[in-house]
Amino acid sequence: MYIVEIYKSVQGESSFAGLPCIFVRLAGCNLRCSWCDSEYTFTGGRKMSLEEVMAEVKRLAPVKLLEITGGEPMLQEREVVPLMESLLAYGYEVLIETSGERPLANVPKSVHKIVDVKCPASGEGGSFRMENLDALTKNDEVKFVIADRGDYEFARDFVREHGFESRVRDVLFSPAFRKDAGPERDARNCLLDPRELVEWILADGLNVRLGLQIHKFIWEPMLKGV
Ligand code: SF4
Repeated sequence: MYIVEIYKSVQGESSFAGLPCIFVRLAGCNLRCSWCDSEYTFTGGRKMSLEEVMAEVKRLAPVKLLEITGGEPMLQEREVVPLMESLLAYGYEVLIETSGERPLANVPKSVHKIVDVKCPASGEGGSFRMENLDALTKNDEVKFVIADRGDYEFARDFVREHGFESRVRDVLFSPAFRKDAGPERDARNCLLDPRELVEWILADGLNVRLGLQIHKFIWEPMLKGV
């Protein structure tokens, strides 16, 4: 499989935010989100065998929470499914971050899927594969990265239409970050003010979690490998 980086940091998103976490970042993505902060994953990557990845992961002990991310990791489904199975067998708690554009039926059930449903302002709205709704369980989380009011209304309506508040472990609404973020480690780098997003959530009575990508408040937002 083609790997961009393997490192340990703090989990910045999801209901696991704040916990030490190992990240295995795979190369390649078939989408081009307007606010993407991972364009360096689109090409290249180092070809590694499953055994090589496992050896590198084990060197980052004792962390046992691990996220597989990208790019879009499910583009390498043939390699990444056996990797998830090996990690589970070694006792890791495994998350996979995916857009949900590729089929998710073969992801092992005990892996937490964090599915980033693309909103219209990303330029990739409509990319979520609707059959993947059947693959979502109480073990999984659905995330919406929100750049403006139109994105918020799309996310709100999608959550209600598919009953996500009771169907999955967590629903995350995250303000999008600017691609030209400055070095400030604060909300000025968000495309949408988190306060405005929270006010909309409360006004509509949504039972969703605000996600703030806390690594972008701990380190400078453009820093890679953290
Ligand atoms: S799916 Fe993720 S990696 Fe791919 S373009 Fe969108 S934000 Fe970037």
